[in-house]
Amino acid sequence: MTTENKPAAAYQHHLQEGLLLNANENSRGLPDVVLEDFLARVPALQLNRYPDDDCKSLRQAYAKHIGVSPDQILAGNGSDQMLQLLISAFISKDRKLLTLSPDFSMYDFYTLSYEGKLCKYPILHGSQVHFSLDEFIHQARDLKPGLILFSSPNNPTGWQISNEELLKLCWAVAPIPVVADEAYVEFADESALDILNNTDNLYITRTLSKAYALAGARVGFLISTRKNIERLRPYRVVYSVNTLSMALAESVLAHAGLFEDMIEKTRAERERLQQAYGELPGLEVLPSAANFLCIAADGDLLQTIREALEEKQIVLRWYEGKNYVRVTIGTREENDQVLDIFRTCIRQRNTDSDGSGN
Ligand code: PMP
Repeated sequence: MTTENKPAAAYQHHLQEGLLLNANENSRGLPDVVLEDFLARVPALQLNRYPDDDCKSLRQAYAKHIGVSPDQILAGNGSDQMLQLLISAFISKDRKLLTLSPDFSMYDFYTLSYEGKLCKYPILHGSQVHFSLDEFIHQARDLKPGLILFSSPNNPTGWQISNEELLKLCWAVAPIPVVADEAYVEFADESALDILNNTDNLYITRTLSKAYALAGARVGFLISTRKNIERLRPYRVVYSVNTLSMALAESVLAHAGLFEDMIEKTRAERERLQQAYGELPGLEVLPSAANFLCIAADGDLLQTIREALEEKQIVLRWYEGKNYVRVTIGTREENDQVLDIFRTCIRQRNTDSDGSGN
């Protein structure tokens, strides 16, 4: 038996040692106040009982945070589980999922699990992102997919569809459901939430894993119209958000303001690094609306840089056979360590190709 077309082939094992700038997590971690708030909640938690299956108070807290009604939200074990729920509801044997290339690999994993077919619209040409709304709509009408799903900001390019284009897309393909995976939206300038009331076929997934430093607790959300959420509710996995994670998520949301400062720092670092990498010969840095940069270069240079980084146990997200690498934006010190290694490798290569040794 071969695993090539099996879901496992779409999943890359996650490394957990070294300086981890490979998973777009928040390197700064939770503020002490949030941890203290959580610890103060623990004694009252009834861990001998099953969790609140309805995630009522968590949904209320997130609804308040993003300005929608709690009955427009489902909560799950990371946004991954919300993506799985959407795919399980709309994709079955031989039904098509229309997504982008490149995009988040778990879409492949779940679609293959449900024996669906993957259709990918390529957006990365060399080191440039190009997305033609007309072409994409044309493809969608042609393919008649069961679901359209892509990340925005896009993982790994950092590109984000504008709300104007997203709304046109939703109208053009209705009633096909369109999902905007907004795992990184806190780092961007706009969110699809602002157009949710203008169309019936838009779904948004969100997470506390990235900007809100809670990847280990596994808390994500699905947001849509009341009617859509009501229809999907029966498909959700019961008890999937545990009592501790819910309490921790509520502590985070109660102190959401503290994360604004971290988000601002990450955005400032993103601009600084965009410029710094952009000045290095041989590198092309894609504009990013997320907490990572996608850096394109020739394969030999990327390999040299990869070896130098791995020697220092610095982990980035590498893609076999691709001419780019994704670098999570961490603290200033972490970012400088990575930047220095890129600089050194490029300087070394240019010295070598000079032949003079000078
Ligand atoms: N969507 C995208 C685009 C992602 O990059 C990730 C995590 N890498 C997720 C969803 C899943 O996030 P989580 O399950 O932690 O909420």
